[in-house]
Amino acid sequence: MKIEAVDFFYLSMPVVTDAGDGSQDALVVRVHAGGITAWGECEASPLTSIAAFVCPMSHGACRPVAASVLGEDVSSPADIARIAATIQWNSMDLLQAAHTWSGIEIALWDLLGRQRGEPVYRLLGYDRAYPKLAYASQLFGDTPQETLESCSAVRKAGYRAVKCGWGPFGRGSLKEDADHLAAAREGIGPDGMLLIDAGQIWGEDVAAAEARLPLLEGVKATWLEEPFHGSAYAAYGALAKKTRSVKLAGGEAAHNVFMARHTIDYGRVSFIQIDCGRIGGIGPAKQVADYAAGKGVTYVNHTFTSHLALCASIQPYAGLADHRICEYPVKPQPMAWEMCATHIAPDRNGEIRVPDAPGLGITVDGASMKKYLVDAEIRVNGKLLYRTPSLD
Ligand SMILES: [Mg+2]
Repeated sequence: MKIEAVDFFYLSMPVVTDAGDGSQDALVVRVHAGGITAWGECEASPLTSIAAFVCPMSHGACRPVAASVLGEDVSSPADIARIAATIQWNSMDLLQAAHTWSGIEIALWDLLGRQRGEPVYRLLGYDRAYPKLAYASQLFGDTPQETLESCSAVRKAGYRAVKCGWGPFGRGSLKEDADHLAAAREGIGPDGMLLIDAGQIWGEDVAAAEARLPLLEGVKATWLEEPFHGSAYAAYGALAKKTRSVKLAGGEAAHNVFMARHTIDYGRVSFIQIDCGRIGGIGPAKQVADYAAGKGVTYVNHTFTSHLALCASIQPYAGLADHRICEYPVKPQPMAWEMCATHIAPDRNGEIRVPDAPGLGITVDGASMKKYLVDAEIRVNGKLLYRTPSLD
C-alpha cells in the first residue's frame, strides 16, 4: 500500500487554560493508503507539529517529516520501522519530528490492522490482550476538599485506583501537600491504589522531593511520578536511592527509545510511562515495553486525550499479563470525548480491554470533530504549505 495522503486535524476547546489538562486540544492524523482510511493522534502542540510536517528543509539533517513519508510503501511492520529510521536520519535536528511522526506511525499500525483484519496487538506479536486495571487519572483539586470530592467520586464510580497530579501539589508548603495527600487517600478509601504525579515541579531539586517521601509513605502511595524534569536522570537516580515503599514513575517526556532507557537505567524508575503519541508511535513503545520487562520494571501507558490515543497507548503492553496498571483519563474535555464514536469503558472490576476489532478498533466521529476543528493555514512567501483539510 502506497501512502497517498496524510492529513492533520487540529482540534481545540473554544477556551484553553493553563491547567495541566492535556485534553484541551488534539492533533488527529488521517492516512489514506490502498483504499483504506486509518487514524492516529499525536501528543503534541498541534500547530507546531503540523509545521514539522510541511516546513521547508533547513539543511540535510533538518527536513520536513512529509519528505520521508508521502509515497512510501507500507505493507508490513518492517515498513513502518523503515520509515521511522528514515525520519530519524532526515529530520534529525527537527525537534518536533518525533511528535509529528508518532501520530502518523499510530495511523499506519491502524492501517495494517484494518488491511489484515487483525487488532494491532496481534501485529506486535501478542496472542491475546490482557485486561488492565484502569486508574482514574485526574488533577488535584485547588483545595484539599476538592481533592477529597473528586477522589470519592471516582471511587463511587467503581475505580479501584486513582492518580492525582499537577495543580497545587509541590508548589506550597509541606503541610499543604500533606493535606491534599490525606484528602486523596480518604477519597479513594483505605484499600484503593493511590498514585501521585508531581508534574516535574521540582526541576532537579532532590531535597524538595525527598521532603515529601514520608508524606507519600504515610498515605501508602504506590508511586511518585515525574518529580523532576524528564531528562534529569541523575536527580531521579538520587531520589530512587532514598525511596522505600513509594517507588518512582516517569518516562512520559521520552520522545525516543534512548530517553526511555535512560529513565530506566539511570533514573532507576520502577514504573516506565510511555506516550505513544510522543515517543515515535507504537513500535518504539513496544521496544520500551520489552526492555522494561527484561529489567523488572513495570510498563505503564501514558495518555491524556481521546480514546483513540488511549487505545494506541495500551497496544505496546497489551499482551504483558503482569503489567497491569493503565492510565485512564477520567475527566477529559468534551472535545477529547466526542471526537471518538466508540469508547473503552471500565467493567465492574474497574478493568479495561482493548477492542478486538481490526486495527485500533476505534471509530472517530467526524461530525463531532468538525465542531472543534481549528481553521489554520501555513503560508511561506505566498505559497500555501498547509490548510485545514476537509473532514468529509
Ligand atoms: Mg504525568
